[in-house]
Amino acid sequence: MSAWILITGGSRGIGAATALRCAEAGWDVAINYAQDSLAADKLAARLHGLGRRALTLQADVADEVQVAAMFEQLDAAGGRLAGLVNNAGIVAPAARLEAMTTERWRRLFDVNVIGTLLCCQQAARRMSTRQGGAGGAIVNLSSRAAEFGSAGIYVDYAATKGAIDTLTKGLGRELISEGIRVNGVRPGIIETDIHAASGMDASSAVSTIPIQRLGRPEEIAEAIVWLLSDAASYTVGTLLDVAGGR
Ligand code: NAP
Repeated sequence: MSAWILITGGSRGIGAATALRCAEAGWDVAINYAQDSLAADKLAARLHGLGRRALTLQADVADEVQVAAMFEQLDAAGGRLAGLVNNAGIVAPAARLEAMTTERWRRLFDVNVIGTLLCCQQAARRMSTRQGGAGGAIVNLSSRAAEFGSAGIYVDYAATKGAIDTLTKGLGRELISEGIRVNGVRPGIIETDIHAASGMDASSAVSTIPIQRLGRPEEIAEAIVWLLSDAASYTVGTLLDVAGGR
């Protein structure tokens, strides 16, 4: 029977690198995306090339109805849900507090926090041994920003990731008795398209990173795939920093 890993925001950046590593590790991969169906389709073709099943699922993770429909589409494909990677996330243009709007705050929290909660809830219903499932693993994408707070850039984004850290610790303890391991990864500054949305030049931060370079999406994917795997069987509610020493 095939075992699926569902990766939200799996079509680009860290999510896409994780999808490739999951396929190499032998899982079938469900790729969620918001808008860019071309990127999702291209990635699915690469996963098929690796001999795995791949499904592309359009849904805004902030929308409860769309998230429920996405999980139902995955159910209909057949096979067991073995893992969820809550990777979909957004930033906003760099700004100080006084220039921020409530609309911006609500969208950041809706996508980054409510989206993660909604997907955890749907996944737990399917994976929990208490609800007839076979157990599984959840990996939440946080950020080193949760620790630093991103003053003058996006304190609101950093706060969403602080919420993810707390959620990861709490759900880690809540769900482990039902066979679900929940952990988080906190990347440093990684070379993806996300920085364009903030208007920040990521490479200007290199001097603040002890390893003296940006991270690659594949380096985050390695950590995620390890946390999903049985090799991490005793790792629960943990936040793994992958940040070049930052
Ligand atoms: P990215 O390159 O901007 O890719 C974002 C992905 O999320 C895309 O697949 C996008 O789909 C999808 N997405 C965006 N909004 C969505 C929504 N509402 N519903 C469903 N999917 C949505 O991002 P990334 O840099 O790989 O970041 C991935 C995660 O790592 C995020 O949670 C981010 O906060 C975290 N992180 C990143 C860094 C970094 O330096 N890159 C550092 C720390 C933490 P479409 O293309 O269809 O819009």
